[in-house]
Amino acid sequence: MPPDSTVGAPPPPPRLAEMFPTLAPAQIARLRSAGHERVIGAGELVFDQGEVAKLFVVLDGSIEVVSPSPAGERPLSIHEAGGFAGEITALSGTSSLLRGRARTAARVLELDRAALRVVIAADADLSELLMRAFILRRTRLISQDQGDVVLLGSRHSAGTLRVKEFLTRNGHPHTTIDVEHDPAAQALLDEFHVDVADVPVVVCRGVRVLKNPSNEELAACLGYTSALDAAQVRELVVIGAGPAGLAAAVYGASEGLDTFVLESIAPGGQAGSSSKIENYLGFPTGISGQALAARAFVQAEKFGTDIAIARTASRLVCDRRPYRIEVGGEAVRARAIVIATGARYHKPALDSLARFEGLGIYYCATTVEARMCGGDTAVVVGGGNSAGQAAIFLAHTAAKVYILVRGKGLSDTMSRYLIRRIEDTPNIELRVETEVVDLAGADQLERVTWLDKRTQARTTHPICHVFMMTGASPNTEWLAGCVALDDKGFVKTGPDLTAAELAHANWPLPRAPYAFETSLPGVFAVGDVRANSVKRVASAVGEGSICIQLVHKILTE
Ligand SMILES: Cc1cc2nc3c(=O)[nH]c(=O)nc-3n(C[C@H](O)[C@H](O)[C@H](O)COP(=O)(O)OP(=O)(O)OC[C@H]3O[C@@H](n4cnc5c(N)ncnc54)[C@H](O)[C@@H]3O)c2cc1C
Repeated sequence: MPPDSTVGAPPPPPRLAEMFPTLAPAQIARLRSAGHERVIGAGELVFDQGEVAKLFVVLDGSIEVVSPSPAGERPLSIHEAGGFAGEITALSGTSSLLRGRARTAARVLELDRAALRVVIAADADLSELLMRAFILRRTRLISQDQGDVVLLGSRHSAGTLRVKEFLTRNGHPHTTIDVEHDPAAQALLDEFHVDVADVPVVVCRGVRVLKNPSNEELAACLGYTSALDAAQVRELVVIGAGPAGLAAAVYGASEGLDTFVLESIAPGGQAGSSSKIENYLGFPTGISGQALAARAFVQAEKFGTDIAIARTASRLVCDRRPYRIEVGGEAVRARAIVIATGARYHKPALDSLARFEGLGIYYCATTVEARMCGGDTAVVVGGGNSAGQAAIFLAHTAAKVYILVRGKGLSDTMSRYLIRRIEDTPNIELRVETEVVDLAGADQLERVTWLDKRTQARTTHPICHVFMMTGASPNTEWLAGCVALDDKGFVKTGPDLTAAELAHANWPLPRAPYAFETSLPGVFAVGDVRANSVKRVASAVGEGSICIQLVHKILTE
């Protein structure tokens, strides 16, 4: 067997070489000072699933990496002298997804997260080689559904959709078993003493069984969360890991700031739910929000950002510095804060809306929702760019897509290129001055009634999938009383703050607030959460990056 050959379905050869490179003696010599050597007997474990992940460079002998599952071990790769075992979890210091075992007596160089970060920060050659291998290995695990999680669910359960989105948006490889269609489902339900009525059921590492877990419980089980340290004062805490927050984290950490990020759900924010972003500079053929977020997340980790997933800032304590951010019963403290909590979707006032959420009502259109919709007819509600993108994306697979808008057309609210594409797509039909007035169905959405306001005609259609793309409100409740907000709740910054607002906020400094600085010194707001911001990925990224310059200034004030 050649060194580092893969046992599963191989990717095209050039990628395989990048996924499983062989380190040159000079590269290994540079790693030696950061790691420590271990001797392992034939058949012994090098590392196990669930342990804190590390990087293992093979000096002598041979090790194999397998994916443990309830059905047994599945072989993934073999590493011989010069090869290495490890993927993104080694960089984040979270739980290992896989198991490694010595095939022969072996000698390995072991690098923990701290050691790996030192190498990646200092050695551009090794940084590029390792980062590329890590990303490609994770991509392969996702595409092969090889992870430490089995999700037993049903496409008719809103909880299953939520858990699946959480895992998918966090780039966590997992196996999904549909309890209604998969022949293996009953055996697994019996093995873990659960019932169809308990779905979604998540089995972590083959041992822990969670029935309909919250995102926080799931994150804890997957090893994403560790206790927050309220005694430590961070130089910079970023709240929200959408494009704005991730940009602030990448620039902050890369410029040497001790940077910590809190994120409620998953990296990427609203952009993470976009099927294809076509106007972000540098991606002429477009990039999915998920892919952009995953890259930015790894980039932030590469520079040493600590990121806590499924942790929500619940209150800002702003009467003294350092500021304190409460997260449930825990807290973090910060000398500077970047608020990047973005916005959340508007929900039309329909009585039955909540009943069908995840059961035919969706707020984003990614591959996960498109699969639920399949070849059926879909309705997209809204006239903005996100609605246009969703309609075009869904039209690839759906039989027909209706776009319903309240206004007289799309030209005031949607980019011209999207309007043109909609006009050129034969299975998209635009209904202007039309709104959904009723949703009906038994276990899931089955019928949609809409009103044409021009004719006052109400018509009911046998449609099971409605995508609500109707705008968003800012996530600023947790800031209550700390920073000046506009009448819609967006955070006011820099020159937008009036003298009266600054007086009311007791602005204490002789200088005016910097651009992106709120009415609280050292607290910045960037991206969609900021009043008068341009609601786009590029502007969010730009604002998140720029504000780091100003964070440096206030840290020396
Ligand atoms: C479907 C869709 C398609 C889009 N397509 C495009 C496009 O093609 N091009 C384009 O330029 N723009 C597009 N946009 C707009 C773009 O995604 C947003 O402008 C951008 O994501 C804003 O970034 P942000 O970081 O400011 O906020 P968000 O993306 O909203 O991210 C905020 C993050 O903060 C987290 N958060 C919120 N509250 C808390 C809290 N209290 N504690 C911890 N974390 C918290 C959220 O979970 C979220 O991850 C699209 C938007 C949508 C919804």
